[in-house]
Amino acid sequence: MDFFKEILNFSIVDVLDIFLVATLLYYAYKLLKGTVAINIFTGIILIYVLWRGTVFLEMELLSSIIGGFMSVGIIALIVVFQPEIRKFLLMVGSANLSKKGSFFERIKFFKNQNLERDTTDIKSVISACSNMSASKTGALIVIERSNNLTFLGDSGDEMNITVTQPILESIFFKNSPLHDGAIIISNNIIRATRVVLPINNETKIAGKYGLRHRAAVSITEKTDAVAIVVSEESGKISYIKNGEFIGFNSDDELLKLVEKDIS
Ligand code: ATP
Ligand code: MG
Repeated sequence: MDFFKEILNFSIVDVLDIFLVATLLYYAYKLLKGTVAINIFTGIILIYVLWRGTVFLEMELLSSIIGGFMSVGIIALIVVFQPEIRKFLLMVGSANLSKKGSFFERIKFFKNQNLERDTTDIKSVISACSNMSASKTGALIVIERSNNLTFLGDSGDEMNITVTQPILESIFFKNSPLHDGAIIISNNIIRATRVVLPINNETKIAGKYGLRHRAAVSITEKTDAVAIVVSEESGKISYIKNGEFIGFNSDDELLKLVEKDIS
């Protein structure tokens, strides 16, 4: 009887343990995939295995040297992985808690019906981009998904305007006082204009792209937001997600892509 009880106890904790480790590994992989950090990560794992090996073989001197390195390693890790840790915490803190239809969102919904969020009118965004593309008007539009982007607004002007095609076009109109920098949209509201986005110098993008495109790549790497850029030089529209340019063949295709991504 006791024996079975033990097995039962053991396996429940075990399943939970495995589940948690799997979740952690999944998030670590999701974060590091396609970045230079994956090489650093592999390097650290190799050193750790080497250290364990030297301890196992009782190679006193080598194991104490690597051991000494490992004990300050955690600080080194925090420094090296600072952007990834930041993104991870952002993801844990804001992702699933605020997603539409999630448990928390539903509780909020019961509390106050007005808190129901609006989905952004992507159709107007794309029509505006299409017109701006034709007139070679530069634009940088960042659309919030689950990570909160309020922190970006500090560098720009706070706004509270519902998204419409004419509003977007007049913001980016060359002689408009608001045309410089990026705009931030969340839940169909333009929250900020003239935002200077943080730029990551390590990001590798093609040399033909300037700061506007680089800013879009950086912000979609740092957070889960998506960005739409209209180039002033070529009129080309780019869609950027997870730090990568996403290809599309027509405005309709772009519309479908973005709508799918933000829903
Ligand atoms: P384009 O193809 O439109 O010329 P680009 O990628 O070559 O785009 P730049 O010519 O370097 O970009 O920059 C053009 C505009 O991008 C700037 O005038 C500014 O409005 C905007 N921009 C540049 N850096 C940032 C930033 N960090 N955050 C937001 N907007 C920026
Ligand atoms: Mg340029």
